[in-house]
Amino acid sequence: MTQVQPDEPATNPAPAPAVGSGARIVALDCYDVRFPTSLEHDGSDAMNPDPDYSAAYAVLRTDAGDVGGVGGVTGAGGLEGHALCFTIGRGNDVVVAAIKALREHVVGTPVSDIIGDLGGFSARMIGDSQLRWLGPEKGVMHMAIGAVVNAAWDLAAKVEGKPLWRFLADMTPEQIVELVDFRYLEDAITRDEALAILRAAEEGKAGRIAELERAGFPAYTTTPGWIGYSDEKLAELSRQAVADGFRQIKLKVGANVDDDMRRLRLTRDVVGPDIRIAVDANQRWGVEQSKTAIAALTPWNPYWVEEPTSPDEIVGLAEIKKAIEPVKVAVGEHVANRVIFKQILQAGAADVLTIDACRVAGVNENLAILLLAAKFGVPVCPHAGGVGLCEMVQHLAMFDFAGVAGTTDGRVLEYVDHLHEHFTDPVRVVAGRYLAPTAPGFSTTFRSETLRGYEFPNGSVWQQLGGESAP
Ligand SMILES: [Mg+2]
Repeated sequence: MTQVQPDEPATNPAPAPAVGSGARIVALDCYDVRFPTSLEHDGSDAMNPDPDYSAAYAVLRTDAGDVGGVGGVTGAGGLEGHALCFTIGRGNDVVVAAIKALREHVVGTPVSDIIGDLGGFSARMIGDSQLRWLGPEKGVMHMAIGAVVNAAWDLAAKVEGKPLWRFLADMTPEQIVELVDFRYLEDAITRDEALAILRAAEEGKAGRIAELERAGFPAYTTTPGWIGYSDEKLAELSRQAVADGFRQIKLKVGANVDDDMRRLRLTRDVVGPDIRIAVDANQRWGVEQSKTAIAALTPWNPYWVEEPTSPDEIVGLAEIKKAIEPVKVAVGEHVANRVIFKQILQAGAADVLTIDACRVAGVNENLAILLLAAKFGVPVCPHAGGVGLCEMVQHLAMFDFAGVAGTTDGRVLEYVDHLHEHFTDPVRVVAGRYLAPTAPGFSTTFRSETLRGYEFPNGSVWQQLGGESAP
């Protein structure tokens, strides 16, 4: 059973070697952290009525001390990399076990070998032939690799002293393409084509970085629209979202078409004609059912429908997209890997890609997906919410603007106002925009009291709820 380690500084720490002089990874720890969000129906949708937002929280520990200028964010015991894999409760322990299965690829490795070759690091874990059998490149093992890859990126950005988005934006096009695995992609995008996209985005990049630092990145909010919320709560939170500066909100749909029509009409009445309302069915429908269900909602002008059906249903998504125009199709948070994203784009099956920071194998694979999206001219509007997803994916959206897509036209980043208080560097959303993170790293470090309270089942909060038998 995972135990929370005390994370106060050691009383008598050994002198810490600098990262450049042989520091090594000494441990890959992983914690099962769960929040009892199902008690309030936060996060409820047609497919997932009672999620307990959870994180398999990976920590790469090194024998290096704090690095210059980064005090306070590297981990109380010295330089550490943090990342999480988001789940919604049961099964979080399965991801924890999968992350622990990657220890032999990590522990004992010089830090410089990992952060100096993040492409190779990712490829070695993905290429572990015995673990690969569990996918290939999909599912729990792939998500676990994503958590470890993302922890390495957090570590690298901390060593560099930059927030991740800026660390990426300051790389050259040549450095970026070295991070991407083009295997299985070259019929859609070659390395040279990716390089051309990145080189074209060099123009104006400094100005876009300055714009991000000044004005942030546009957000939309799903906070009002959980399916378990009453009409009164939906109306009140929708009103509040507009007052808070959001220009787009999202409603969960798909359980019952009459309820969907009533809730969309109510929301449209509250927010008026100029606010975009996206709807999200969370894979609830089949192909034909998607068409009729969305047709019933068109009087209230939904902007996009997200995950109408299975994310693997490429042919069906293309058919739905054609049938429901001008309502857009959005998909991505459950798309397993870059190969499926490629086919969705090749099939013309989506208007919007909703990438997730920890569904695929981390930053590297998401770079591949950003490049594919740019090649096909499809906007990326990342999925967030849950726990830590906003913190992580904001970095990818901002890098996409600065260094790949070069525009925020049609781009907006999901925001949900839950659980940010558990992070040492929480997102800051002001007037409907994400402010650019400034602290070094990937914004994925949990506060120490969060681990003490929410580690499952032994944390103090879970013990009060009855531990393993909590409702
Ligand atoms: Mg969704």
